Amino acid sequence: MYVAGHLLASIAFAKIAHKPLGVKFFPLAVAAMAVNLIDADHLIYYYLDDGTKSSFALHFLHQSWAFLGLAVCLLALVLKPWQNLIFGIFFALMLHYGLDLLANVFVYDLNAVIGFEILCLALLAFLFRNDEQRLKYYLFFVGLWLFVNLVLGFITFILGWKPDAHRGVYLTATLLTLLGTLAFWKLFKPKHEQSDVS
Ligand SMILES: [Zn+2]
Repeated sequence: MYVAGHLLASIAFAKIAHKPLGVKFFPLAVAAMAVNLIDADHLIYYYLDDGTKSSFALHFLHQSWAFLGLAVCLLALVLKPWQNLIFGIFFALMLHYGLDLLANVFVYDLNAVIGFEILCLALLAFLFRNDEQRLKYYLFFVGLWLFVNLVLGFITFILGWKPDAHRGVYLTATLLTLLGTLAFWKLFKPKHEQSDVS
């Protein structure tokens, strides 16, 4: 999957899973979004991947998915106070890999990828329908989706950068993942946490 699909699916996952996991939505959502930074591994062998190759065959944080998953589980055993959140991170990691596998099935067909992203938007609209801040969330989801795809569309279709010829494509994708996560952090950080400090 590409950046927008990963980020939107991560937020939907956090909204669905935070209660069963016994953790707050906000930290789980931020952690699940940040997990997608594992795609930074594409920067190393970018020249082998035209954007439609299996990440599991080429990129080391995807090749070592089982080891990474095990390491996160072990971390949950060691850091007991953070156990539930770390298990949430484990699920978010598996979600990322699962979506990459799904995208491989469709050979990263652009219609299928965009279709999946629109399904994510619809799911998020449903999941946040009773939230006090739903309008702010909806604006963020649609804004994130448009911004990420317009930037990536601009560099690939207008500037003509090819992922396997220009490291800038995967670098931009990584920066967009980071920016999306930080924007979510800034916009939705619970206010009571700030007032607790003052
Ligand atoms: Zn990936």
